[in-house]
Amino acid sequence: MRIIENINEMLLFSKACKQAGQTVGVVPTMGALHDGHLSLVTAAKKEADVVVVTIFVNPAQFDESTDLESYPRTFEADREMCEALAVDVIFFPKTSEVYAPNFSTWVNEEKLSVGLCGGTRPGHFRGVTTVVAKLFNMVQPDFAVFGQKDAQQAMVIKQMVRDLNFPIEIIIAPIIREKSGLAMSSRNKNLTQDELEKATVIYESLKWAEKQLLANPGLKLKEIKEVMTTMITKAGGKIHYIEIVRQDNLQPQQLFETSVIIAVAAFFGKARLIDNIFVNYESE
Ligand code: AMP
Repeated sequence: MRIIENINEMLLFSKACKQAGQTVGVVPTMGALHDGHLSLVTAAKKEADVVVVTIFVNPAQFDESTDLESYPRTFEADREMCEALAVDVIFFPKTSEVYAPNFSTWVNEEKLSVGLCGGTRPGHFRGVTTVVAKLFNMVQPDFAVFGQKDAQQAMVIKQMVRDLNFPIEIIIAPIIREKSGLAMSSRNKNLTQDELEKATVIYESLKWAEKQLLANPGLKLKEIKEVMTTMITKAGGKIHYIEIVRQDNLQPQQLFETSVIIAVAAFFGKARLIDNIFVNYESE
């Protein structure tokens, strides 16, 4: 496994792969890897001859500097996990090279990125689309794998790839969970044992809501969100948002009349956790 820190070296490596007739798959991450990330690597390996995992804690997508500072950084453990999965390259660029002095060009998606995490984290998606576009230019992949865990992010990236004509196939992989149901996340590393247990209520509330929707499709979605809010708040979580949106355009819904995503963002302790569940509307 190679570790590449330099952008030019990454470009040369990718070019050599293409010349040798090999396809390249990329898994963009911010490190602190867990089994969720590794499932993306496995998905990438199914499609591409060569798999590149990028590890870059992107300052441009953090709306709060304390969140950026406390974001877990575990490069040695990440390296071992990638090695064990026979990843071909870890691309680990330096912030000073990714954002050179006087950096002033941004990529902005203007529809799908407005609500949910976009509404509660100003500038977040501008940071995401910009860094992913840059990583695509640096790695030159044929495939890129993202997790359904960040469902809005995955849709925004797909839109960006369409709108800006990146010749890249985007693959979306399912959410990997702990046995407790909690979605795996690098941010779980910042939770105490007690918070880890309490945070399982997020998935419980999503499963509860899914069951309600499927059993009583006439229910007002506002009522479902209210019960979810109570469940999470009672367990000690602080809601950032709970939304039920259309799967195709992320617009908030009042009634269950089309396939939806139920999406939650909540703080447990200092960690902001997100999770979601897709509920398909039967007659579609
Ligand atoms: P992050 O390092 O948190 O920026 O995530 C990097 C990629 O891993 C993103 O595409 C995430 O959606 C994906 N990811 C994070 N957690 C999970 C999970 N529990 N299951 C599947 N994919 C995940």
